This record gives sequence, structure tokens and C-alpha cells, in this order.
Amino acid sequence: MNEQLRRLVELQEIDSVIISLADKIELLPDKLDQFKTPLEEASASFQKFKLKHEELNKRKKNKDLELEEIQDKINKLRSRSAEIKTNKEYEAHLREIEGFEKSKSKIEDEILTLMEDIENFTKNLQEEELKIRKAEDDFQEREKLLEEEKKKLNIEMELQKAKRKDFIAGIDKEIYAQYMTLLNRSGLAVVPAKNEVCLGCNYNIPPQLYNDIKKNEDIYTCFYCKRFLYYKEPSPDGSKSGETAPVS
Ligand SMILES: [Zn+2]
Repeated sequence: MNEQLRRLVELQEIDSVIISLADKIELLPDKLDQFKTPLEEASASFQKFKLKHEELNKRKKNKDLELEEIQDKINKLRSRSAEIKTNKEYEAHLREIEGFEKSKSKIEDEILTLMEDIENFTKNLQEEELKIRKAEDDFQEREKLLEEEKKKLNIEMELQKAKRKDFIAGIDKEIYAQYMTLLNRSGLAVVPAKNEVCLGCNYNIPPQLYNDIKKNEDIYTCFYCKRFLYYKEPSPDGSKSGETAPVS
């Protein structure tokens, strides 16, 4: 194979690897974002239960105060019992105490109900807390794995870039400039020709040109997409491995 052509084919192989690595690195944050959603959902759910829990506690505190006040009133009334002179006054006094006792009993029932609710919400809150912790663990684990993956990809990227730098030194400047224009356009600058077709754009190649390309002795470009063309001997097992996929 023509030396420049061989270098172009290999450079394309390196650049295809670099492009694929760059794509993978770019997609890494998206992979992590998928694990943010369960964490955010768990936090929102926890927050909801926490607010309800706080509200119930506040209501219970108010009821406790009410109970205290009413107990105070009852105590004061009772302490005055000895000062009462007439039966009529005494009956009114007892009715007053009875009224406060009724209110007190009602408040006590409300407090009991609130305590049951608070207990249930405490359980819910603990469950929600566990869910958050699990989501946080999952997120951190995923973050760590992706960080490791990123490191590996970056190392591989540096290797490929170093390899590329050594490689382009041997390529004719003008050809390289042409190659870069094509590469920046679609990521594919060098493509195989097969059965009189350019595998870059799928347009036909004139038979005479195709025959020349098959020799791999010179550099030819596709009439339509301008990509560099080369001929690849069909692999003995007939597989298409290593063949560049058609683009645009
Ligand atoms: Zn073409």
C-alpha cells in the first residue's frame, strides 16, 4: 500500500477511537443524572413527612398547653369551694367545674389521637430516612464508578492522542490539512471502497477509478463526498469486522 495512504487509514482508525472516547466521556454526566432522580424523590418524600410530623408535634404542644390551662382553672375553682356560702352558689360552682372537666376530657382524647398519629409519622419518617440513605449510597457508589470510568477513558484518550501526534509527523502537510477538513465535517475522512461504491457516501465509483483504487498505490478521493478512498481486501472468513460504517 502507498505509504501516505497507509498512514491515512491508520490515522482514521486512531481518530475514530478518539471520537468514540470523547463521546463516552461526554455522556458520563448523563449517566450520573439518572441516579439523581431517586435521590431527589426520596428527599422530597422525606421532607413531606417531616413537615407533617412537625405540624402534629406543634398541635400536640398547643393541646398540652390548653390542658395545663384548664387544669389550672379547675384547681383554682376547687380551692375556692370552701368559700362558697349558699347551696345555689355551690351548684353553680359544681356545674362550672363539670364544664371544665368535660373540656379537659375532650382535650385529653385529642392529645391521645395526636400521639398515635405522631407515632405513625415517626415510623414513616424513619422509613423515608432509610430510603434517602439508600439513594445516597447508590448515588455515591455510581459517582465513584463513573469517576473511575472517566479516569480510564482519559488515560486511554491521552494514549491515543500521543500516538496520533507521533503519527501525523509522517503525513504530507497538504494531505493532512485536507484530511482534517473532512474529519471535522463528519468524523470520517478515510473510507473503504467496496463493489464500486464509496462506503462514506454510498455513491458509485467509476469502474476505471475503482480499479485504480483497488491497487492502493496512490491517493484517490470520492468524487461526491471528497473522502479519501482505499481498498480493503475482504477478510478470509467473510466477516465485515473493522470496516468503517457508512456515514452521511
Ligand atoms: Zn463518497
